[in-house]
Amino acid sequence: MGKLDGRVVIVTGAARGQGEQEARLFAAEGARVVVADVLDDQAEALAKELGALHVRLDVSKEADWDAAVAATKEAYGRIDGLVNNAGILRFNSLVDTPLEEFMQVVQVNQVGCFLGIKAVAGEIAAAGGGTIVNTASYTAMTGMAAVGTYAATKHAILGLTRVAAMELAQQGIRVNAMCPGAIDTAMSNPALLDPDADAEEMSKAIGDLYRKLVPLGRIGRPEEVAKLALFLTSDDSSYITGQPFVIDGGWLAGVSIL
Ligand code: NAD
Repeated sequence: MGKLDGRVVIVTGAARGQGEQEARLFAAEGARVVVADVLDDQAEALAKELGALHVRLDVSKEADWDAAVAATKEAYGRIDGLVNNAGILRFNSLVDTPLEEFMQVVQVNQVGCFLGIKAVAGEIAAAGGGTIVNTASYTAMTGMAAVGTYAATKHAILGLTRVAAMELAQQGIRVNAMCPGAIDTAMSNPALLDPDADAEEMSKAIGDLYRKLVPLGRIGRPEEVAKLALFLTSDDSSYITGQPFVIDGGWLAGVSIL
């Protein structure tokens, strides 16, 4: 028996990285998964491999959410869960950030999360209750220079999570947030996507960095975040709602002087 047998779960940003691992683990645990992303070819290939449904979804567009919900209901008849995983990161100091860049990150990370909650809550309630898991970040809990726009949106996601949890509890919907530290995906290691970059050298530099920064001495794996998403989506977390869950190898525990 799988932990998600019979449940229908939409995962946004599921073409690669953490979303991909969440889609894979959820499918292995018996869920009917909806692989939602703007990367058509990768999302389609993954959905085919998993026997899942692929929908093209730009999370910042309300019409795309309406279409994704309609396609999911047509294919599976119901929606029991959502993982708001899609996100983007831009490096800049706050005073150098053009408004257009700030708004782009807000549109995807923050508005995308809001629209997802709004689009699926009624459907999850109609299915008798379920779960929403929002992907925030380590930078939702603390500041980090050079990623101010991103950090602002991730703080906002915690606000959305807490309010949604309070407003949707009566409908049997639990809403929680994940706060990953550094996770080994294209977001933290863009060299993985750059055919001209020396990905091995970059991975070594990243390994050296997190060996010093993080008490557990390494960067996190997307599969580890997927296990937290599974916990928060399954009945194992049945009495938990409105909470942020830090998954960061101990990075937030304190400042190291060694
Ligand atoms: P990633 O860049 O590999 O994956 C992000 C996915 O989101 C991609 O598949 C991308 O196509 C998709 N996406 C981007 N914009 C979209 C849009 N408008 N609509 C739909 N899909 C869109 O990075 P990841 O590490 O897998 O990131 C997943 C989530 O985890 C993000 O919300 C990110 O902010 C968060 N996060 C990542 C880290 C990290 O260190 N990698 C740390 C903390 C939080």
